[in-house]
Amino acid sequence: MTWNRRHLLDLQSLTAEEITLILDVAREFRAVGERDVKKVGVLQGRTVVNLFVEPSTRTRISFELAALRLSADVINFTAEASSLKKGETLKDTVRNLESMSADFVILRHGASGAPHFLSRFARCHIINAGDGAHEHPTQGLLDVFTIRERKGRIAGLKVTILGDILYSRVARSNIWALLKLGAEVTLCGPPTLVPRVFEQWGCRVTWNVHEAVRGADVVNLLRIQHERQRKTMFPSTGEYAALFGLNQARASLLHPEALIMHPGPINRGVEIESELADGERSVILEQVANGLAVRMAVLHLINGGQPGQIC
Ligand code: ASP
Repeated sequence: MTWNRRHLLDLQSLTAEEITLILDVAREFRAVGERDVKKVGVLQGRTVVNLFVEPSTRTRISFELAALRLSADVINFTAEASSLKKGETLKDTVRNLESMSADFVILRHGASGAPHFLSRFARCHIINAGDGAHEHPTQGLLDVFTIRERKGRIAGLKVTILGDILYSRVARSNIWALLKLGAEVTLCGPPTLVPRVFEQWGCRVTWNVHEAVRGADVVNLLRIQHERQRKTMFPSTGEYAALFGLNQARASLLHPEALIMHPGPINRGVEIESELADGERSVILEQVANGLAVRMAVLHLINGGQPGQIC
C-alpha cells in the first residue's frame, strides 16, 4: 500500500487501508520519539505554516513540534495578529503564503469545509487541523492509534463516545475511523446533542448513559462545544454533569480494562470527574503524546515519504 494523496482533509474519504498505513507509520515515528536524538531530516528544506483561525493549544503545538522534528521550517500564524483581521480573504492569505514558498498549510478554521475549499486551488499541501463541527482528522487518527496501541486491534471493540456529538468535529472523525476499522460505535449524550441521524452512519444511539457505558472497551468523552451552539441545548452545565458526566459509579460499569479518553481541553467536573481524568484507566496524556507521532506520519506521507524511509 502506498500513499498518494496531496492533502489530508477528512477521514470520511479515506479507506481503511489508508488509515492503517498512517497508523503503521506513526508507530515508526513513535519509536523515533523514544530515541536520544528525536529529529529526522525528511522535511528538510520544506516550509510548514500553521494557519490557526480558531484557538488551539495541543493541536497547534503538536503540529509545530512534529514539523520541527522532521526538520522543516515552521511559521506560526494566528488570525488575531494577521491581515485576516483587516478583511483579507482566506484564499488571498494562502496565495500570499504560497508566494513565500509555503509547502504545507495546516488549517484550523471555524467554517466547516474551509480546508476543502482551499484544496481546490492550492499548490501547497493542505492539512485540516479542525474545521467547524465537521472533522478533525488528526485527532481521529491519534485516538484510534491510542486504542490500537493499547488493545492491539480496533475491530470488534465496543467504543462509546459520550457528550456533545452534534457540534463535535472530533466525534465525526472518530466515528469514520472507528467504523472503517470495524469497531462497534455507541453515541450518547442529551437527545438535543445526539440526533438519531447518526444511526444511518452505522452507529448505535442511546440517551441512556448506563446503557452506553456498560461493558464498553473504550469511552471517549467530549466537551460541550458552547462556542458552536447557537441556542441552549440543555438546561445547565450542572445538570449535564449530573446526567451524563463520567463519575465513579458510571465508570464501574465499563469493562474492567476499559480506556478512558478525552481529546482536551477537559472541563473537570463536567464531562469527567477529576479523579477519573487522572486515574489508572485514563489515557488522556498518552493521546497527546501519540498525537505527535501521528502528525509526523501524516506530514511524512503527504510529502511523498513511504513507510520504512525514516532515518
Ligand atoms: N480540541 C478539540 C477540538 O478542537 C476538542 C474540543 O475543543 O473540545 O475540536
